[in-house]
Amino acid sequence: MQQTWEDDIKKELEKLEHLSQNRVLQKTENAQLPWLYLNGQSMLNLASNNYLGLAGDSRLLKAAAEALYMCGTGATASRLIVGNHPLYGEAEASLIDWKGMESGMILNSGYTANIGIISALMDRNGTIFSDKYNHASIVDGIVLSRSKFQRYRHCDLNHLEALLRKYPTDKRKLIITDAVFSMDGDIAPLEGLVFLKERYNAILMVDEAHSSGIFGGQGEGLVCAHQLQNRVDIQMGTFSKGLGSYGAYIVGSKWLISYLMNKMRSFIFTTALPPSVLGSISAAIKIVRTEQYRRKQLMEHSHYFASSLKRLGFLIGPSETQIIPVIIGSNEQTMLFSRKLQEEGIAAIAVRPPTVPEGQARIRFTVMATHKRNDLKQAIEKIAQVGRKLGVIE
Ligand SMILES: *Cc1c(COP(=O)(O)O)cnc(C)c1O
Repeated sequence: MQQTWEDDIKKELEKLEHLSQNRVLQKTENAQLPWLYLNGQSMLNLASNNYLGLAGDSRLLKAAAEALYMCGTGATASRLIVGNHPLYGEAEASLIDWKGMESGMILNSGYTANIGIISALMDRNGTIFSDKYNHASIVDGIVLSRSKFQRYRHCDLNHLEALLRKYPTDKRKLIITDAVFSMDGDIAPLEGLVFLKERYNAILMVDEAHSSGIFGGQGEGLVCAHQLQNRVDIQMGTFSKGLGSYGAYIVGSKWLISYLMNKMRSFIFTTALPPSVLGSISAAIKIVRTEQYRRKQLMEHSHYFASSLKRLGFLIGPSETQIIPVIIGSNEQTMLFSRKLQEEGIAAIAVRPPTVPEGQARIRFTVMATHKRNDLKQAIEKIAQVGRKLGVIE
């Protein structure tokens, strides 16, 4: 009997289900708040990337609404055609001032920024060195670039150096790292990466998706917090996480930004961001620069949450940030843990392969500056109860 493409696809789906790796959507309301509704049930939100609680902030709402009424719902075209509404200029000026860099630009999302930057800078003559745990958008950018690809062990500078040594210094080399790793919450060894980049004449790009708004005196990110802004070639980050809005940025030298503007296909061939998004980006930058107490609150909550889970015997890995994984191992057990926590009113999301390595399925908890300490305390007690019941801890 002949197999149709439909049979093949159904078989693939069944295989995913069998491995507990199939994904389904759940109706989520109020995800911008510390308490959300998942399929209609109220739960403590320990699953969003809205770390500073800005996605529900009235000043962002107001800025978005004003921009919407001033410029319309859609940008109507790409930025190089007629989509470059004046809110772009305003938001990019705020970005450049905030970061203290020569130049910068705003892109539609972190995903399109990463695939655009990497494929514009690199081709088959060059080599890309990428941390094993870098975000999927970086991996896709590498594939798109057709460049040679060396994956170095997670945060392992010795391994990276050994790989860099194999390539001639005159060929273009790009080192890429997340600043904060999205599934582990640990921090890249930025100083060491800068050292190697300089020694081996490579370009260094840092993705600050989970550190923008969170680190640095004005939330500029980890590169600025370590005063490495003149030694890192490309800082990329997003407005979609800590800044509570949407879109992404790149900052760097003037000629780099001009080059990217001319070459990034994911910038050239897509409609510009809606004006309302740009309005909220400008408002968010203003707020993260001044409201230090949000970062302080977030750090305190993160430390409390992580140290409590660790003390209970959970395996949280090397997390040092607001991203705190509880590593369970098997997919089924992780799904069950997530389901039980949801029954207890905790929005805890299971992360499975291929997002994380095989055998390292986990619950990825994230805390928010706007959480109440008492809510976190009660959540920890419930997580401990479920953990004991399922034999994850003693
Ligand atoms: C979320 C994320 C992105 C993608 O950003 P979006 O704006 O959501 O497209 C890129 N890099 C990292 C490290 C991320 O965590």
